[in-house]
Amino acid sequence: MSLKPILPGSTSATGQQMTLGVMGGGQLGRMFVQAAQAMGYFTAVLDPDPASPAGLISHFHIQTAFDDEQGLAQLMQRCEAITTEFENVPAPALVTLGAHRPVAPSAVCVAVAQDRVKEKAHFVRCASVSGVSPAPYAVVDSAAALAAVPDDLLPGILKTARLGYDGKGQLRVATREALAQAWAELGQVVCVLEKRLPLLAECSVIVARGADGQRVSFPVQANTHRDGILMLTEAYAGSVPTALAERARASTLAIADALKYVGVLCVEYFMVKNAAGEDELIVNEMAPRPHNSGHYTQDACDLSQFEAQVRALAGLPLPEPRQHSPAIMLNLLGELWFEPNAVRAQRNEQPVSPPWAQVLALPGTHLHLYGKLSARPGRKMGHLNITGSRRETAAKVLALLGLPALG
Ligand code: ATP
Ligand code: MG
Repeated sequence: MSLKPILPGSTSATGQQMTLGVMGGGQLGRMFVQAAQAMGYFTAVLDPDPASPAGLISHFHIQTAFDDEQGLAQLMQRCEAITTEFENVPAPALVTLGAHRPVAPSAVCVAVAQDRVKEKAHFVRCASVSGVSPAPYAVVDSAAALAAVPDDLLPGILKTARLGYDGKGQLRVATREALAQAWAELGQVVCVLEKRLPLLAECSVIVARGADGQRVSFPVQANTHRDGILMLTEAYAGSVPTALAERARASTLAIADALKYVGVLCVEYFMVKNAAGEDELIVNEMAPRPHNSGHYTQDACDLSQFEAQVRALAGLPLPEPRQHSPAIMLNLLGELWFEPNAVRAQRNEQPVSPPWAQVLALPGTHLHLYGKLSARPGRKMGHLNITGSRRETAAKVLALLGLPALG
């Protein structure tokens, strides 16, 4: 990547407005576009969906497949630099783009995050520096590898190496028979079997790293999942024990440095008790982009993860982010449009907007909706950042939305 910054509000050598591009038009792309536009950049989105959340608000929306040569050529022609908002962007597309334009993160980094086998090998390499290892695991890529899986990985979770998200592409297995059946069910694709650990809690860390190697980390956040989907993120003093938070931060920076990563990276961790009864950190997986668990930075920090993505891509300075307000982020899934009775969703009843006026009457509530045209159960429709009095307000919000109380 060139170290010369792409300055907003100026024109390029060809007389075009400075334009930043993103592969993917989902909500993460939309929030990247919003951050880039706020700073004065023009934006271009490549996504085949004419109603994609980012495409709807971008200056340019190239509606082709991600590996369409003409689409990629148009994106390069429009943009000074290009980023991605999802890890399953075809690696060859990023290689093509990277040959002509700065692309951050690079195809190499995205390829590591796309494949659990490569990702875990990278974590194992980094463990010698960071002291933080992944859960015990084995690669299952053949019948022989399946037969050779050590017994002590059971009970475990069989995860496809590629294309998993929100708990999809994962099966829990307790016995060798169940393991063989699960591998067949997953189509005998390359998988990783991970030992199932008794999690005390989960956390994640967002870091941003520039082409000059300068890097910053955001405060560490605690995450609660429901049915494999992130439900809630808590980011305030004490939400993650300080010693673990410091280790998670250092580990994430080591993981980014070892990849010479440029852009925003999120790494997820598990907190467990080790054999000696001490708190221990286990590295789970990484996302080569801003992450759902980092959305609180929009309203609680003086630099959001999306502005950090813009700055890293454009080669602008990355000052250490400061959190100015304690925060809780609540994901807003499509079933909320059908509450209080989810059965209505199955009966194809019209979705009803949740009681936003009442929610927004509570101080410190910041609503972010992604402009998705239809609500479906399990679909991420938006999120709510709650700053300030946190758990008290969060409890009221959950009650208003008919969601279960915090644990
Ligand atoms: P996402 O993309 O939403 O982050 P994913 O589908 O890529 O998720 P993982 O992060 O690997 O999948 O797993 C989803 C959740 O399942 C974890 O956040 C954790 O709650 C649980 N989980 C995964 N692996 C383990 C494990 N080895 N032991 C215990 N629980 C686990
Ligand atoms: Mg995960």
